[in-house]
Amino acid sequence: MVERAQALGSEIVRLNADRLSGLPDAYRDAKTTMAVVAASPSRRRLQPIPPSADWRFDLAEGCPAHCSYCYLAGSLAGPPIIRAYANLPEILAELPAAVGQGRVTSVSADRVAEGTTFECSCYTDPLSIEHLTGSLAACIAHFGAWRTPDEAPVQLRFTTKFDAVGPLLGLAHNGRTRIRFSVNATAAERHEGGAPRMKARLAALRAVAEAGYPVGLTVAPIMRVPDWADAYDRLFADVAAALDGIAGVDLTAELITHRFTPKSKEVLAGWYPGSPLEMDEAQRTRKMTKFGSVKWVFPKEQMTGMRAALEAALADRLPMARLLYWT
Ligand code: SF4
Repeated sequence: MVERAQALGSEIVRLNADRLSGLPDAYRDAKTTMAVVAASPSRRRLQPIPPSADWRFDLAEGCPAHCSYCYLAGSLAGPPIIRAYANLPEILAELPAAVGQGRVTSVSADRVAEGTTFECSCYTDPLSIEHLTGSLAACIAHFGAWRTPDEAPVQLRFTTKFDAVGPLLGLAHNGRTRIRFSVNATAAERHEGGAPRMKARLAALRAVAEAGYPVGLTVAPIMRVPDWADAYDRLFADVAAALDGIAGVDLTAELITHRFTPKSKEVLAGWYPGSPLEMDEAQRTRKMTKFGSVKWVFPKEQMTGMRAALEAALADRLPMARLLYWT
């Protein structure tokens, strides 16, 4: 990783102790700093991650983009420095014990064919830093070559807003990695500073589908943008055009509405003062998470209407897509 960063002209600072200190806490400096660290045993412990996958493991924490709704804001503490884990072999060594043990996709009648699923994009956008880490390519190759006991099926999953898929196209993925693209109505792009535009993401979707990867759409966060029903219908039409002519594409869709927590609102308001993103409790319904914390979601009648419209548009424009969940 250090060699890659050096070759790209990054400033390299070596810290003497195995702890991070003296790092920037200003937002801009933090977002352009990547610490290469070892994932501790507790960070390497697999976690269930419903409704997406059986298990979550992390290659990194943080992301260089500037989405004003970023869901990491409520999960990661402190300045948004990127931490990339250097001890990938130790991280991957945790996975075999979890094969066949999943309680999410493995026990779902609709999704059991995916096998034991491992999600690696919960705390980062792994493609956003792949040019520095190479970790994603290593994971894809690892899953592609993985000989599990009794040939038990396994799948790597990640979602991204980035488009630099070139180095992934020739990998021996063996159909065991599902690459999902985080997409949205065009009006949402104004909230996604530093991330490639939707058109570039859809071109990348086509490239990986042509390379034989199972693919997916993470439609998130679904917002009440102007003319939202038409806007999301147009998105699905654009995806259909992007995938046109590719035979037998294996496509899934995950539909995730915008929500915020008191903590994420506070952090995001500090990072992006003056952002036009709506985070108004008066327009939302208060819900408790299963961990006992508060989140603010769209009111029930709005949710029902949005769900019906988006699911109908998805079925109409992308009849081959398998809808995994709405939340
Ligand atoms: S690309 Fe994803 S992880 Fe990165 S800032 Fe945007 S929402 Fe956050």
